[in-house]
Amino acid sequence: MQVIRNGLVLIEDELKPCDILFDENEIIDIQEHIEGDYPEIDAKGCAVLPGFVDVHVHLREPGHTEKETIETGTKAAAHGGFTSIFCMPNVIPFPDNTETMKDYLHLIDEKAVVRTYPYACITKQEASKEVVDMKSLSQMGIHWFSDDGVGVSTREVMKQAMEQAKDCDAMIVAHTEDMAYRKPGASVHESEVTAQKGWLGIPSACESAQLIRDLGIVEEVGCKYHACHISASESVEALRQAKQKGLDVTGEVTVHHLLLEDKDVQGPNWKMNPPLRSHADRMALIEGLENGSLDFIANDHAPHTQEEKNKPMDKCPFGIVSLETCFSLLYTQFVVREKRWTLAQLVNYMSKKPAERFGLEKAGQIKKGYQPDFVIVDLNEEYVIDASQFESMGKNTPFNGWQVFGKIKQTIVKAQTVWKANYIKINRIYEKV
Ligand SMILES: [Zn+2]
Repeated sequence: MQVIRNGLVLIEDELKPCDILFDENEIIDIQEHIEGDYPEIDAKGCAVLPGFVDVHVHLREPGHTEKETIETGTKAAAHGGFTSIFCMPNVIPFPDNTETMKDYLHLIDEKAVVRTYPYACITKQEASKEVVDMKSLSQMGIHWFSDDGVGVSTREVMKQAMEQAKDCDAMIVAHTEDMAYRKPGASVHESEVTAQKGWLGIPSACESAQLIRDLGIVEEVGCKYHACHISASESVEALRQAKQKGLDVTGEVTVHHLLLEDKDVQGPNWKMNPPLRSHADRMALIEGLENGSLDFIANDHAPHTQEEKNKPMDKCPFGIVSLETCFSLLYTQFVVREKRWTLAQLVNYMSKKPAERFGLEKAGQIKKGYQPDFVIVDLNEEYVIDASQFESMGKNTPFNGWQVFGKIKQTIVKAQTVWKANYIKINRIYEKV
């Protein structure tokens, strides 16, 4: 058993000075002072939060280890305070059957430093032709299916997928994108601002039209459905209406869509799919999250090599890395500067709500009997984001050089420290020890 001492612990939406006693399975006790001579973690001056949960991560391995590996991607998660992540199935070979899934789970077991839950594909090879055998995959403990990276292009196939998902109580997790709306080379939101820069745009309907189609099928079939990286106000409205009808649907929003707009785009490190949209869209996302039309925050961490991102806007791949900057960016903007959210609200969006929706048992909160997964954060420490210090192999971030508050000091998964700050503070300049 171990104890975390001297920290301010987030319990039931409040920071309280408490000690936490835990073993490798669960939190055993939480009290103002816990007696006993246990090995100690000193959280003096820091907040102790439940480990963050991210349902949308691209680890790239197997298949694209030049971009990221399970080891580097999960270390990046640990550095960002994430203790549970869900990895998208657009790897090679696709985990679209029990054989490849078995190999994938084996790799994860061997290499991941945080709890890592793989998605299986919705369709074989993410080709929108043939639905995978969800039943056999769900018998392996895989309850989340996604073709992320692409939309499921035909209604009939999506309907079959939802029927199967319903039968095995699994969830469809959809990247919605109707390619009829996306011209070759389109790389940003379709708007006046981006047209002035000579870039070809992707309209909001590219996302919302397919989302509206999917929500119609959910209404017919009645399965669990989660919408990935919502970017457009029309999509927020569609989810609001679906929830009003009582459908079992949720939606996530990414850090970059909450913080950036089309006018901010400067080059390939601002290119992601879906793209950064208008100011009105961004406001709709923030309000949607606050009023429950959207549910929680995800990263869509999408590493690429420098070489790929050095290509021009129309040729470089979509995606940015985000795991290592998520908490500090959101804490700085919405809690410290705008005072729009409380710390507890932000942590609920990053831990409790995704854990609940994705059925992680006893995760996402600091409570007796819950998982011993914590992140220790110095909320007052100010620092400058430096991509060269990322654990991720991907350095493709639009947030390099941003000044933020809230430094992750230590991340603990299953009672083990998986990341610890190796920086010492010398007059506000950070030197690697
Ligand atoms: Zn996606």
